[in-house]
Amino acid sequence: MIEDSIKYKRRREEMVERQIESRGITDPEVLAAFRKVPRHLFVSEALMDQAYGDFPLPIGEQQTISQPYIVAEMTQALELKKEDRVLEIGTGSGYQAAILAEIVFRVYTIERIHSLLVNTRRLFDKLHYHNIVTKYSDGTCGWKDESPFDAIIVTAGSPEIPEILTDQLAVGGRMVLPVGNQYSQELTRLYKDEDGIHSKVLCGCRFVKLVGEYGWKEL
Ligand code: SAH
Repeated sequence: MIEDSIKYKRRREEMVERQIESRGITDPEVLAAFRKVPRHLFVSEALMDQAYGDFPLPIGEQQTISQPYIVAEMTQALELKKEDRVLEIGTGSGYQAAILAEIVFRVYTIERIHSLLVNTRRLFDKLHYHNIVTKYSDGTCGWKDESPFDAIIVTAGSPEIPEILTDQLAVGGRMVLPVGNQYSQELTRLYKDEDGIHSKVLCGCRFVKLVGEYGWKEL
């Protein structure tokens, strides 16, 4: 077990240097979170040895844990501060939520597939992520009772920018989401100020579908 953790710690360091720092991620809080979160525990035992590779991996239910670099790019684009409250749509494996939880005060995360959420909730408890609040629901409707949020991250591809989510963003808030068709999307960053919403495309990407009332109608 100890040897195991030394092995994975080394792989984690390599992942940060070769996939994340080398591609221009510089936020020290983001880099520290990637050095800390044990990504291999967020995939099934059979895939643990591949967990630090430069690619997404299946997590069951036709869903995936994103490539490490994409998680880093999205996290940095949120420009997080310690006291922030962040909403994530698409809990999946829980890896992105754990990265956020290392950086901010509280993470609210919503998943629409019950079996995934049950496993992930158990993992959060095991790893003592007490600042992650989970909900089994359609995340395209957001989490009105807990809004407004300082940042919102959508980790599934949306056909458009759901207004119901930008409504739940605080003034000064940031949002990152993939927008496009089911095969390819643009990773889009939004910023909300008194004048409204300003958007910028970061890069191309490919995510699983955001399925729900304000997303795709089916998987
Ligand atoms: N952030 C995750 C990525 C998982 S893939 C991770 O780090 O592993 C995207 C996830 O979004 C899937 O688990 C999928 O079931 C979920 N999802 C898709 N549409 C959703 C919706 N409307 N509400 C909540 N979760 C949704």
